[in-house]
Amino acid sequence: MNCCLRAFALSWFSGVLACGTCTAQEKEPDWSKVQIKASQVSGNIYMLEGQGGNIAASVGEDGIVIVDDEFAPLAEKIQAVLKDLKITDKPVRFVINTHYHGDHTGGNPPFANAGSTIIAQDNVRKRLMTGGTAGNGGSVKMQVKPAEKAALPIITFEHDVTVHLNGEDIRALHFPAGHTDGDAMIFFPKNNVVHMGDDFVRYGFPFIDVASGGSVQGMADGVEKAIAQLPADVKVIPGHGQLSTLDDVRAYLRMLRDTTAAVQQALAAHKTVAQMKQEKILGPWAKWSGDFVNQDTFIETIYNSLTNHPGPFVKHN
Ligand SMILES: [Zn+2]
Repeated sequence: MNCCLRAFALSWFSGVLACGTCTAQEKEPDWSKVQIKASQVSGNIYMLEGQGGNIAASVGEDGIVIVDDEFAPLAEKIQAVLKDLKITDKPVRFVINTHYHGDHTGGNPPFANAGSTIIAQDNVRKRLMTGGTAGNGGSVKMQVKPAEKAALPIITFEHDVTVHLNGEDIRALHFPAGHTDGDAMIFFPKNNVVHMGDDFVRYGFPFIDVASGGSVQGMADGVEKAIAQLPADVKVIPGHGQLSTLDDVRAYLRMLRDTTAAVQQALAAHKTVAQMKQEKILGPWAKWSGDFVNQDTFIETIYNSLTNHPGPFVKHN
């Protein structure tokens, strides 16, 4: 796939997209056509799908907590869908962001302006404030503009935070240096549901934002740690894609480990990135190759993860 097509696939990021030799101004989706679909995951936990990252919602007598909020133009539709569940008339009291990318935090300003409190890991606030370059350290590159004040989380945490609402201890836990350096996974223990953010996605090889402190090893370590603390029958909401099982997460982890080992082996044999691409060293995992991240861009991602230093914001648990 050429880089302009890839830029189109990346269109959930705001701002100007640049990759390789071409730059493309993002084409705004037609927001009026986007429909928000809510499905019950378990008990009072719902999954909302529209455009951008999946939303998890705890809807109950105390009000509503959502995890991620897609894009600003969709906020009214999201509110309407939550109201249509006819469980509560109370508002969205808290929004928890899984990481700073615009397809997960774009709705922060309208939700904050409507009275919701935005919660996120420390590095989410820092990166939203400063903006900068996101990307895989190679040909996937995106400029992110500094966010407006209303987009900023007003409660931040370093390691973890718990929201006690609707009879559940909703826990956000930081996983450092995975998809970015500010990732949180959100656990709903009573309902046996987890939202894994973009540390687990269903569109194939994952985008890992090495330029924002992410790394493939950190992502694999985080996913492995999460698996170890989740019950076998947990319902998994991925950052993108369909509701999943722990077995789906295990298969994804295996792919992360095996592809990393393949690039590591090629590195040990002093191969260049160009040689790795030419020899198609990720060929055995071709079924994971997607429109967003293909074999070549995932080789770059792993190579840059293994050879670069992580970003300056990285803190370890
Ligand atoms: Zn992301």
